[in-house]
Amino acid sequence: MVQDSIQVLQTQGYKVTKPRRQVLAILNGAQRPLSPYDIQRLLRQQGKHLNHVTIYRILDLFCSLNLAHKLLSTGGFVKCVLGDKEGCHRFMVCHRCGTLQEFADEGLCQEENEFTRNFDFHTKYHLSESSGLCSNCYRKQHQKQGNA
Ligand SMILES: [Zn+2]
Ligand SMILES: [Zn+2]
Ligand SMILES: [Zn+2]
Repeated sequence: MVQDSIQVLQTQGYKVTKPRRQVLAILNGAQRPLSPYDIQRLLRQQGKHLNHVTIYRILDLFCSLNLAHKLLSTGGFVKCVLGDKEGCHRFMVCHRCGTLQEFADEGLCQEENEFTRNFDFHTKYHLSESSGLCSNCYRKQHQKQGNA
């Protein structure tokens, strides 16, 4: 995955600097969304030091290239798992266990574009997140209710 992301940077004409490579590796190994402070702390544990401004700039770049995304609900950053799949990348976020699922659907984008065009608005991209329960948490909750 890090290798794929490095290729994206290169084909888009960006230098694969050491800090960019380091932040990529951290995002890639993460099990949950990370704030820039989390990233800084994890790097420090490996004896690497990046300041916040650098980390923010790198995350901005990664987000603009769809290598990473910022979650709307928490502001945490995650690596993109869809690659260059068409359509805006969106998330389903379980508010109980934090499980994330990323998806993209071109049809959904088109529908939203048509909707906003009724207001003479010209959409460039969509940010969206569904908050709720993953299948595991949903099942658990209903089992509990069933036993009560
Ligand atoms: Zn993505
Ligand atoms: Zn869950
Ligand atoms: Zn879209």
